[in-house]
Amino acid sequence: MRDFSEIKKIVVKVGTNLITRDNGIDEARVVDLCRQIAALRSKGYQVILVSSGAVGLGAKELGHGKKIAYNPLRQACAAIGNPILMSYYRKAFGIYDIICAQVLLTRRDLNNRTTYNNLRASVSTLLALGVVPVFNENDVVANTNEIGEIFGDNDRMSAMIASKIDADLLILLTDIDGVYTANPKSDANAVFIDEIEHVDREIMSYAKGAGSTFSTGGMRTKLMAAQIASMALCGTVIASGYERDSLIRILEGEKVGTYIHPEKKLTQRQRWIINNSHVGSIMVDSGAVKALKAKKSLLPSGVVGVVGVFEAGDVVAIMDTDGKVFAKAVPYFNSTDIALMKGLSTQEAAKAVSRAHIDCLFRPEDLVLTDAQSL
Ligand code: GLU
Repeated sequence: MRDFSEIKKIVVKVGTNLITRDNGIDEARVVDLCRQIAALRSKGYQVILVSSGAVGLGAKELGHGKKIAYNPLRQACAAIGNPILMSYYRKAFGIYDIICAQVLLTRRDLNNRTTYNNLRASVSTLLALGVVPVFNENDVVANTNEIGEIFGDNDRMSAMIASKIDADLLILLTDIDGVYTANPKSDANAVFIDEIEHVDREIMSYAKGAGSTFSTGGMRTKLMAAQIASMALCGTVIASGYERDSLIRILEGEKVGTYIHPEKKLTQRQRWIINNSHVGSIMVDSGAVKALKAKKSLLPSGVVGVVGVFEAGDVVAIMDTDGKVFAKAVPYFNSTDIALMKGLSTQEAAKAVSRAHIDCLFRPEDLVLTDAQSL
């Protein structure tokens, strides 16, 4: 048994494959999911649902059977599919006298303090009213041309939500019963893993390939999601939604699916930095890489170059001279000033940007080292 006795707030994510069939929604599956959520609610759990399926349902409504590569069409399908998806959730939750609500989110909404505060206020009001919020990425407006601006898949989005709201457990329900050493659908030697202490490179290497026709995730994004949740001291269970009463049994501590343990608790600010999409990058020399890893401040002399345009206070990626990102940070200066100061001593740098004095570009508390896999 797993000890989940302290768990109160959970985020449940369901994938497209789980709730759709060839000809549209799998209504029985949606009703079964809502039944289990109703049961959890009556036991006192707070539940937030993240549901994929809008793009797939929209495509089916239009008669498209193939994966959609053209983004505006994908966005159109999401616009068509979201109300269809919600109509089924509304009907199914209604059976259990539960009101549900739709929350469409972009990565920008989580990154921006004002929209995030609005989101937090509305979601806590919904939860206080006994409503189940159903989240999806707002694919209709999410801009795929701006790297880092989209979640891209609901696995990572659900983990970022779990991290933001300090959830105790993230449950990713999919069409496979957990993590294997290889894809069990194509490799007969694949071995099931029921517990993971740390998602390292080896674990990551077990997961290859992306999702199916209309979903964008796959095991890789699920493991990345588990890493994100883990940093917020939130465990993750990856399990099959086809298994009878999977949600209920997971919360009872039964060994259903793969459990990825929570690891370290980063502060909300550290999580905000690490989960934020960065608008630009600062390239630093090997001395600065060492200094930053040893929790020292960044001095102008360590800067080799600046990529992109950013303001003071934006989250930027920090990379070494090979272009490998190893940290994210919030500098006190904008990209123009940092470019003027690069390679200079603090005295010369102060002169270059017409300041009386400069200590550093950012301090250790403004920097979070990243795990290569989570970026
Ligand atoms: N937002 C997409 C949808 O609702 C799904 C993304 C994903 O597969 O994770 O269809």
